[in-house]
Amino acid sequence: MQQDRRGFLKTTAAAAAGTAMIATNPYELLAKSAPSSMRGGKMKLTYRPYTLELKHVFTVAVYSRSTTPVVLTEIEYNGVTGYGEASMPPYLGESHESVLSFLSKVDLSKYENPFELETILADIDAIAPGNPAAKASVDIALHDLIGRLMGQPWYNIWGYSKDKTPYTSFTIGIDTPDVVKQKTREAAEYKVLKVKLGKENDKEMIEAIRTVTDKPITSDVNQGWTDREKALEMIHWLKDHGVVMVEQPLPKTQIDDLAWLTERSPLPIIGDEGVQRLADVKKAVGVYHGINIKLMKCTGMREAHKMLTLARALGMKVMVGCMTETSCAISAASHLSPMVDWADLDGALLIKNDVYDGTKVIDGKITLMDRPGIGVKPL
Ligand code: MG
Repeated sequence: MQQDRRGFLKTTAAAAAGTAMIATNPYELLAKSAPSSMRGGKMKLTYRPYTLELKHVFTVAVYSRSTTPVVLTEIEYNGVTGYGEASMPPYLGESHESVLSFLSKVDLSKYENPFELETILADIDAIAPGNPAAKASVDIALHDLIGRLMGQPWYNIWGYSKDKTPYTSFTIGIDTPDVVKQKTREAAEYKVLKVKLGKENDKEMIEAIRTVTDKPITSDVNQGWTDREKALEMIHWLKDHGVVMVEQPLPKTQIDDLAWLTERSPLPIIGDEGVQRLADVKKAVGVYHGINIKLMKCTGMREAHKMLTLARALGMKVMVGCMTETSCAISAASHLSPMVDWADLDGALLIKNDVYDGTKVIDGKITLMDRPGIGVKPL
């Protein structure tokens, strides 16, 4: 008994020491807590390429497209299967070929305990630099597997309340005023609209939406402006028109201009292209008010959770975003959403050929399923 208590105190002290550094890190404790009945199997990773078809041609400041390549992964262990996904919008440089090539180098059969996320995912990260979506496809499947083995959804494992999920924004792509009005009417269910800016017609886009609705609008410039004075003027105009936040107003390389703008902006400035992984969060202080976390940029749920925790500790705003993805990767990201200021998880709503049932958007609100893991079922 005495010994148990000493052991408990030791564990608590160790956990508290970890807290001082990065707030919470449940993974190592999870690894130690895995019952022996869950051990002894071999993990088997399988994967297949798939192509998402978008409902509308998608236009942002720098490109247009109508499909997105993804790779769907599964990790099977002792008869339990976890699901994952890599999504590769072309501008990020990954492809079916690069992800399949990366995954062919992943050998999970050498790990006896799937709960050892820190070890397994650090090894996978070290296989090659870059490849964040490929890495995320293993990370998500492994998280799903672990949640299923524990019989718990990740929002429970992380200690988040599923009732505190936010509304998701719904993206209205750059288009002519008539099409923008039509898309705004079609988005009646959503409580927050997201507008892609950074072309010549920024004001026209916002004015077209304002003829239809007075809902709050989040905006994403995708590095489309270059002059900081003009950007500041525009942000004042946006604020007067009910815009509540601006994502990546200037190119990520214009660090000094971004810091200048962030100091003066009447709206929160959020870094997206300029903030990819955990190591970028500290560098974002003073450059942006907050960060946009995406699983496909940061290698998955493990690092996303750390970024969220660190950004909060640094007093920053947090947004969770996505690529066009199936409900698999969207569901994975949605478990972070109770802790964010803004959620942009409309990726699965923009595609015609989803292959999973998972987290849903009900009356505009992100709605987590009462299911273990990331909460998905193959359709
Ligand atoms: Mg963005």
